[in-house]
Amino acid sequence: MGTIRFESLKMAWQHQPVEVKRPTVPASVYFAEKVFTRSKMKEYIASNVVDELFELMDNDQTLSRDIANSVAIGMKKWAMEQGATHYTHWFQPLTGGTAEKHDAFIDLEDGKAIEKFSGSVLYQQEPDASSFPSGGLRSTFEARGYSAWDPSSPAFVIGDRLCIPTIFVSYTGEALDYKTPLLRSCTAVNQAAVAVANYFDRNVKHVNSYLGWEQEYFLVDEALFNARPDLVMTGRTLMGHASSKSQQLDDHYFGIIPERVLAFMTELEIEALRLGIPVRTRHNEVAPNQFELAPTYEEANLSNDHNQLIMSLMENLARKHHFRLLLHEKPYSGVNGSGKHCNWSLGTNTGVNLLALGKNPHQNLQFITFLVNILMAVKKHNGLLKASIVSATNAHRLGANEAPPAIISVFLGQQLNQALDDIAKADVSEGILMNAKKEMKLGVGNIPAVLLDNTDRNRTSPFAFTGNRFEFRAVGSSANCGAALLVLNAAVADQLNAFRAEVDAMIEKGETKERALFTVIKRYIEESKEIRFEGNGYSDEWKKEATKRGLDCETSAPLIIDHYLSKQSIDMFARTHVLSEAELQSRSDVKWENYSMKIQIESRVLGDLVINHVLPAAKRYQSMLLQNVLSVKQVFSEEETNCLNEQDYLIIRRIEQHAGAIIEGVEKMNKARAKANHIENQRERAVAFHDTVIPLMEEIRSHVDDLELMVDDELWTLPKYREMLFIR
Ligand code: ADP
Ligand code: MG
Repeated sequence: MGTIRFESLKMAWQHQPVEVKRPTVPASVYFAEKVFTRSKMKEYIASNVVDELFELMDNDQTLSRDIANSVAIGMKKWAMEQGATHYTHWFQPLTGGTAEKHDAFIDLEDGKAIEKFSGSVLYQQEPDASSFPSGGLRSTFEARGYSAWDPSSPAFVIGDRLCIPTIFVSYTGEALDYKTPLLRSCTAVNQAAVAVANYFDRNVKHVNSYLGWEQEYFLVDEALFNARPDLVMTGRTLMGHASSKSQQLDDHYFGIIPERVLAFMTELEIEALRLGIPVRTRHNEVAPNQFELAPTYEEANLSNDHNQLIMSLMENLARKHHFRLLLHEKPYSGVNGSGKHCNWSLGTNTGVNLLALGKNPHQNLQFITFLVNILMAVKKHNGLLKASIVSATNAHRLGANEAPPAIISVFLGQQLNQALDDIAKADVSEGILMNAKKEMKLGVGNIPAVLLDNTDRNRTSPFAFTGNRFEFRAVGSSANCGAALLVLNAAVADQLNAFRAEVDAMIEKGETKERALFTVIKRYIEESKEIRFEGNGYSDEWKKEATKRGLDCETSAPLIIDHYLSKQSIDMFARTHVLSEAELQSRSDVKWENYSMKIQIESRVLGDLVINHVLPAAKRYQSMLLQNVLSVKQVFSEEETNCLNEQDYLIIRRIEQHAGAIIEGVEKMNKARAKANHIENQRERAVAFHDTVIPLMEEIRSHVDDLELMVDDELWTLPKYREMLFIR
């Protein structure tokens, strides 16, 4: 009775830290040793070819066919020296995660075995992609999707395989992945930002978008994980009463990392560094068994690849250390969820961070220009930004009393807010008059430097300025950051283009550049006011206020996804060439489909668990109590019996009530699910799952959680929160 649970507890307690072999040399020596870096390219690729390749890479271009063979020869030689026997195109399908198909180098030529890896393999491949979602862009009978190397992300070796980061597109060139539109968005924001930066500095030729992610995750012992079919099948607990000690004491945050976890983290860091992922910080997070890992920021596309890579690395290493990795945004209800803060900024080839205060008034005007345009972009597309981060799993975080509220707003900090308000009020002719020392008279010149280490951080804001970057906190822990970044980059690019058009038009009419810039900035500060919010994002007042301000307050995930197909989004993506309308349609369909699939699986698993685990345990306990009632009757007088059995009767009845409600609930849920499943339209189906299935799941759960508290602990078969949440 309850054996699986107790067996798994015994096993969990026996797990010891796995020994990790530390390299004998410092990290700087083995950093990126598994990566085909530029310096290795120089070593392994013919010199005339390598120059051409670098030029393509520097200009965000794809590999040309004529040099592909020479590049492939060098890449293969290096990879084989690293022990690779296979190669794979490594891509990021819309299902999330990464996909690989392995091919061996070994081949037969004239009956003789040789290691082969031709340029055409680098250039383009056709993975059997019919099983990846395309939202109708590619019918299955014509299951052609192509993957091709993205030279801005270097190849690397994991175990016995050479991994080649690739884009994944349909036969007709539509993006089927996250990488393709992310790259397009980097190009769009580069072009737009260079043009605006040129108002201030003619030497700016390139603007990169940067990403520094902070990956939150949970670990759970593998034995306990295996005893929870809900975790195995859905990545989260579908039931479970909060443990009496969870995170109230906040003693986990920055506390001592358990030894077993430390061993895992140590090995993870070593492997990550070998793969060129510049991981830097690790610590406990707010919830028990929750941790965080963050690297140094990098160019957005590369950083996003590194995040994808580290998620699979974590998954594999967790198993080696007898853990399971939970990247679900909300594995335990009532306990903090996991996000992936995306720190984002724009930087020039001249080394200037466009989101940092400058050293002089001139640079500060540039800073304000970019800041205000970002405010405008986020204001215009706040609903779309929310759509970019919403999913069935992340929906558990949004709107809950944690991390990001389900309303996108921007936090700037008190001083910067004040500075913007001052500029908005200032007289243009005053503001742009340069004095003898060539200093701007206006507030921008005098923004206090203390802003640089902006300490008044608002943890409730989903999009916060943190001194020299924005931190988009609503992104989910399991997400591909690309989904959010491509929206951000595209929206900002579009906004910068609009800004430039306005400023140029004024200049053409004879206005000075400074006056033109100032005039438009002032107006933008007014127009973007509604997106700025410094208060408590969790409060009910904010919900009311945000509705008044016209910000998107929708909480239903399937309806939030609608923003992808609003006229405003379609036009913006078309102008920036980041996503076509067909691509947006397919992306929305995939999002709705994923949503329905997730809820469908959860509801099935919940139904099974309830019937096979919960009700039998409850019934067993109930019959024990009934036996007891009968035994008492045989021994005691009627008066004594009534007295003694009162308690038992109470519990017996309660169990009966909960069990009855659960059975009824499961029947209703199954009906609702069957009905939803019959809906053809992806959107309508997702809406049905949201509106009709989820409420029943929640209702069932509340009865189960009450039963858990009532039923004899010995009889309960599923590991409880208190057992899973505290690693010894
Ligand atoms: P915190 O938890 O206080 O937000 P962390 O050190 O955990 O800080 O994470 C900060 C993240 O922000 C890191 O990934 C870091 O590389 C990144 N970051 C720092 N500066 C920038 C920048 N200019 N652009 C993008 N990301 C940045
Ligand atoms: Mg952070």
